[in-house]
Amino acid sequence: MAAQTVLVTGASGYIAAHVVKAFLKKGYNVRGTVRSEKTAEEVHKTHSKYAEQLSVAIVPDMAAANAFDEAVKGVDGIIHTASPFILNATDFEKELMQPAIRGTTSILEAAQKYNPAVSRIVVTSSFASVLDPTQGQRPGYVYKEADWNPITVEQANSNPVMAYLASKTFAERAVFDYVDANKPNFTVATLCPPMVYGPIAHSVADVKSLNTSSGDINRLIDGSEKSVPDTSFHAFADVRDLAEAHVLAFEKPEAAGQRYLIANSAYSYQQICDIIREKFPEQSELTPKGDTGAPLPPAYRLDTTKAATELGLKFRPLQETIVDMVNSLLKLHH
Ligand code: NAP
Repeated sequence: MAAQTVLVTGASGYIAAHVVKAFLKKGYNVRGTVRSEKTAEEVHKTHSKYAEQLSVAIVPDMAAANAFDEAVKGVDGIIHTASPFILNATDFEKELMQPAIRGTTSILEAAQKYNPAVSRIVVTSSFASVLDPTQGQRPGYVYKEADWNPITVEQANSNPVMAYLASKTFAERAVFDYVDANKPNFTVATLCPPMVYGPIAHSVADVKSLNTSSGDINRLIDGSEKSVPDTSFHAFADVRDLAEAHVLAFEKPEAAGQRYLIANSAYSYQQICDIIREKFPEQSELTPKGDTGAPLPPAYRLDTTKAATELGLKFRPLQETIVDMVNSLLKLHH
């Protein structure tokens, strides 16, 4: 049987680079979407080892009507990762809501209209659409897949962080609403990771253009943080484990119509600083010391039993994630 082809949107991104690689490694053909010719070249360079299995389609504006109509033709499945992850938007509608929500519905519509062969669409959602941000650290609470961020449009407009959380919540809701309303041939699965860390595999011009979660860790090794910052989300996912989760959510029949929390464990910035200072002693001047060995602050936890049992996903420990990530970040410093 000929190899299947999956379409991966936002192929230039931090997470997408690992997702593309995971599919290529398993023998799939991948068609990635990017916004420009220049980015297309970078994606080809990133995956040059798999040149024969990779093609790139240009979708300049995913919020535009019919944006994905051409890109979906001829593929067997779709992994929709493209969505803005920015916490400093000023025009929430244009920078966040439209690309997140329109981008998602547009790919579902295109698949239903132009490609009945698409069997499964996996959407990279976020823990942002699971947690209730009005409950703060919520010690003792365990988030599960049944939890949905109850954010309202009014709250979404209150500040840029709430706007990002809402963009992911509304986009993920749109996935399940679309399927309920339109009964397409394909099934969907959504993945909800909290902060994603681990090595950088995509092309990054300089440290200023790092994606949001990598930028957070970079600030812990370049001297910009003078004290250990407060931990904003109390769980992390390793980018390689998350990439594997995309492959499994695409392949497993039982993932049809499901939503999965993908998280390795709870963590704190203090633990990350401790790991960096221990494993990279030459860096220790640039990494805040804080209260070495301090226990995790009391906060909610995430129940990831469903991903472990239904997808068979295994999770790396924080130390491996951070050591590999710091090694990849240090390469950008030289
Ligand atoms: P990233 O490196 O910034 O990647 C985002 C990708 O989306 C890029 O390919 C980007 O294209 C594309 N994109 C952004 N805005 C777009 C727009 N308006 N139109 C078309 N494409 C657009 O971020 P990432 O961390 O890999 O995020 C990937 C996905 O994971 C997102 O859905 C994000 O919400 C989700 N997620 C991330 C984390 C995390 O901690 N990193 C946690 C939970 C969920 P360009 O390269 O052209 O900008």
